[in-house]
Amino acid sequence: MRTVAVINQKGGVGKTTTAHNLGAGLSRRGLAVLLVDADPQAHLTAAMGADAGGADLSQVLLGECPPEKAVLTGPGPHLLPASIALAGLESRLSAAGREDMLHAALAGLSGYDLAVIDCPPNLGLLTVCALRAATEALVPMQAEFLALRGLAALVETLRAVRGRVNPELLMAGILLTRFEPRRKLGREVTGRIRAHFPGLLFETRIRDNVSLAEAPGFGQDIFAYAPTSRGALDYGALCAELAGRPPRPVP
Ligand code: ADP
Ligand code: MG
Repeated sequence: MRTVAVINQKGGVGKTTTAHNLGAGLSRRGLAVLLVDADPQAHLTAAMGADAGGADLSQVLLGECPPEKAVLTGPGPHLLPASIALAGLESRLSAAGREDMLHAALAGLSGYDLAVIDCPPNLGLLTVCALRAATEALVPMQAEFLALRGLAALVETLRAVRGRVNPELLMAGILLTRFEPRRKLGREVTGRIRAHFPGLLFETRIRDNVSLAEAPGFGQDIFAYAPTSRGALDYGALCAELAGRPPRPVP
């Protein structure tokens, strides 16, 4: 199963928006998609209008609930939901093999073509679990100079994960989000990413679009909420690009 971890240690860069709409868009293209909310803030769970009243990812990782019982199903992508209970997980999981728990849980689920994991805004245990379970990392970022430094640190983390827990990890690519085409800064940052990480940048850029910020409030993805918006166009293009583009090696 192709498993994409959406990762960036910075918050507010569009991880949850990307995980949600990538999953929704590829589900509309006919793939069987599982979304995994690995952030204790449970933003993806809320954005999907899901009720986190039942079992969540923390119970699955603790071995208290089989993964298939925790998955919420429906016409679109299925969801392995999160709740704030995930926040206390680190101290409750025994040290041995805890980085493998998510990988094992996903391996126990069959029938999906693609899983997309929404990561928390840090490089802690849950992110490492996600990278262990992933076949590839997708890195959303904003076109800012300081974000380039964050990107370098993130690539170091990916290298460390490859060396330690997942030698097969690849990169889906780097995605510019909340992009403002008229700003010169955007072109400069794009040039630097291309120079430092050749071949990694997605051609698709996600422009700033208010519908993308509004849709979660209605528990909807962008294709349901505003099908003709720029946000729907951009995420539709990303789905097509990702589906047709093989993952790249970690630089
Ligand atoms: P992260 O998961 O990295 O913290 P989010 O996906 O939650 O980031 O995005 C942060 C905020 O920005 C949210 O309120 C979201 O709705 C909004 N947002 C994300 N992408 C866009 C975009 N392209 N245009 C406008 N608002 C966006
Ligand atoms: Mg988020």
